[in-house]
Amino acid sequence: MPGWHTGLVIADRIVCVDCGGWCHRITHWPEDDPPVPGDTVAYRCSDCSDRWDLVLDAEDFDD
Ligand SMILES: [Zn+2]
Repeated sequence: MPGWHTGLVIADRIVCVDCGGWCHRITHWPEDDPPVPGDTVAYRCSDCSDRWDLVLDAEDFDD
C-alpha cells in the first residue's frame, strides 16, 4: 500500500477555475492515517467561496 512518504504530493492550494483566485485545502489527515486512493480532497476558494472536491487516484501515489 503506497503511503504518505512515497512521493504523494497534495497541493496546499490550487487555482480557482472560476475566478483565478487561490483555493486553499480544507481537508487534512493525521500523520498516522494518511490518505489513500479514492479519498476526496476539498478546496475552498478564498475569493468566490466555491468549493472544489478532487478525488485522489492511484497516479497521485506514484513515486
Ligand atoms: Zn474562486
